[in-house]
Parts: sequence; C-alpha cells; structure tokens
Amino acid sequence: MINPPKISKLTTEEKLLMGPGPSNIHPETSLAMSKPILGHLDPDFLRILDENQEMLRYVFQTKNTLTLPISATGSAGMETCILNLVEPGDTVLIAINGVFGARMKDVAERSGAKVETLTADWGSVFSLEEIEEGLKKFSPKVFGIVHAETSTGAQQPMEGLGALVHKYDCLLLLDCVTSLGGTKVLIDEWEVDAVYSGTQKCLSAPPGLSPVSFSQRAEEKMAGRKSKNRSWYFDLSMVKSYFGGERLYHHTAPINMNYSLHASLHEIVEEGLENRWKRHEKNHQILKAGLEALNIEFPVEEKYRLPQLNAVKIPEGVEDVKIRNRMLELHKIEIGSGLGAFKGKYWRIGLMGHTSRAQNVIRCLSALKECFLHFGYPVPEDPIEKAYRHL
Ligand SMILES: *Cc1c(COP(=O)(O)O)cnc(C)c1O
Repeated sequence: MINPPKISKLTTEEKLLMGPGPSNIHPETSLAMSKPILGHLDPDFLRILDENQEMLRYVFQTKNTLTLPISATGSAGMETCILNLVEPGDTVLIAINGVFGARMKDVAERSGAKVETLTADWGSVFSLEEIEEGLKKFSPKVFGIVHAETSTGAQQPMEGLGALVHKYDCLLLLDCVTSLGGTKVLIDEWEVDAVYSGTQKCLSAPPGLSPVSFSQRAEEKMAGRKSKNRSWYFDLSMVKSYFGGERLYHHTAPINMNYSLHASLHEIVEEGLENRWKRHEKNHQILKAGLEALNIEFPVEEKYRLPQLNAVKIPEGVEDVKIRNRMLELHKIEIGSGLGAFKGKYWRIGLMGHTSRAQNVIRCLSALKECFLHFGYPVPEDPIEKAYRHL
C-alpha cells in the first residue's frame, strides 16, 4: 500500500488578478458554481444551456444558430474552429503578430492543412492591403487572425476585413479570447465565419469553457466535408446534436462550469455591452495616467491599444521579477510578465471584466508606487495624483 500523503485542507487567498487572465470573478459567478449539480439531460439544466446560447449570441452580436460553449479552455475553441473548418490539404493563411497567431499556425499544421503565414512586428497590426496581398498570393480557404493579441496588447481593426476575405472566396476565422466582453466584438457586422473565445478573460468566469460561433458559410463548408474530423471530442457535427433539438449524449457537459457561465453572461446582459466597453476604456485611461507618473510607457500605438490588456515597458533599471514578486507577496496583486519576445521587457497589466474597476486600478498604482519606493526606483510624480484626475 502507498501511504496517504500528508496534505492540509484546500485554502486559497483572495488576490487581485491583473494579469493576462484569469480575471477576478463576480461573487454571484462564484456562488453559481456551488449550486446543486444536475444531470446533463435534466430539463432544468437544458434550459440553462439554452439561455447560455442565447446570451452568447448577444455577447458575440450574432444570429448564428451554431453558437455554444466548448467544454474546455480557449485553446480548445481554437482547435474546434480549425479542425471543423479545415480538411487535410486545404490551404490556410494565418496572420502572426504575437504568441496566439503562432499558436493558431501550430494547430492548423496539426490539422493537416497547408499553412501559409503573414507576419507583422509584435505590438503592431495588419493593414487590409497586407492581408489582400496574402489572399491573392495563396488563395487560402480559411484566413485566421487574432482580434486581441494578449501577448502584445494590440487590437486588430476589423472594418472591411470580412468583406475582403469573402471577395477571395475564403472564410474568416477570428480569435476573440481576450476581446469578448471587453471591447467591441460584432460578429455578424464584421462577417466573421468562425470565432472562439474563453471564459476567464473579459467574460470573468473561471477558465474551462470556450464559447464559439459559426456563420452559415462556415456551416456549409463543414457540411461539405469529404473527410472525417480528426478530433472526436471537438467534432461539431456530433457536439451540436446535444446543443440542438435532439439532445444526443456526446460528452457530459461540465455542469457547474455552465452555471458560472450563465451567471457571468447574466452580469453582462444586466450591465449592457456598450456600458461594459465604456467601463473598460475608462479604467484603462485611469491606469495609463498613473503609469505615466512612473515613467512606464506603452509600446503599442495609442489607437490600437487594448484597454483590457495593458502591455507596458518596464523602465530602464527596474527589475521585472523583484517587482512582480513583491506585488504578489505583499500586495496580493498579480500582474503579468511579458510573453515570448516581450519576456523581461514588458509587463502585461490586465483590466478584464470584473477586475476592471476604478478601485482596483488605484490599488494597483499605490502598490506599484510602494514597490518602486521600496527598491529605490525613481517615482518622478505621484501616480495616484495623476490617476485621480481621470476618476
Ligand atoms: C488566453 C488566450 C488563448 C488561449 O486560451 P486558454 O484558455 O489559455 O486555452 C488564445 N488566444 C488568446 C488571444 C488568448 O489571450
């Protein structure tokens, strides 16, 4: 017999999550998780699923019938979109300007697609001209791009992109993991054919579900497949029979995760999408004013900055790890490190969903100031004084 391990009871401490996700969740969303579990075919649970789909259509701003939460994190939404849309041998074009575009390429390669790429500098975005050149050159069946690149804090402009992609008889795949529920996402107006998101960023639910949505065009491409989907778990032709009318068992839906999604989407419905976008923008402005007092700059051009993910340059001489450790240990605030090419040079300060509140911004700025003073780094102006003017 192996002896039982000596482990104390589960404890966690309340922390302010100002990294690239997960974000803090509303107390109602937390409580929702602890409601009594139901069977996955119980009519009471099926009603919750239906309402989740209805609320997701609102949040995505779409009438797409095929809109549902995949039972796994955002990356699973990425796999779902690619594995269903793409058949081996199809040409796929992926735009890469950060970590998540690169991940999309990796997933597309594993699907058996012939993958071509467009690249842009980290922190920048793609122009319609650059994209059109790629569409002309490679004639892809699917073009994939990240709307909110969490590794760089840049937001891809969407105006005209859907129409352009369709002109070349191609489908548009969009990563909205970090944008959904934080900044404007208009799936129908933008003519997006396949989109995936995640629950732990601006939707402010725990990680574990990935909302996806597919246009009529995408459904037609999937219906015309000649080969079987390489994934069993993510095969939408089966998954949708559970979400649709037939309620055929495919896999057991994560019941309590769907409760938390219901509560978090309900928060959004009550707040209103436009109010939510405005709130994210306002709190970003407060943070920005305060950070400037500490000589902390934004690498991304102002008009492309994501309000919910502030990628900022660590000032000369300031030690990344020292500050992040003190922020976490003393102030109980998590800020994100740089990812990939931005590691050690940038921080990523998230103001996502329920985290994006003025009191949290002020708490973060006060804590940063304390850390700077503690390590003897320059504090040229008082960040609170500067932030205060934007409250
Ligand atoms: C977080 C993130 C993902 C991956 O989501 P996981 O939930 O970590 O699997 C994909 N794309 C972007 C833009 C993200 O920010």
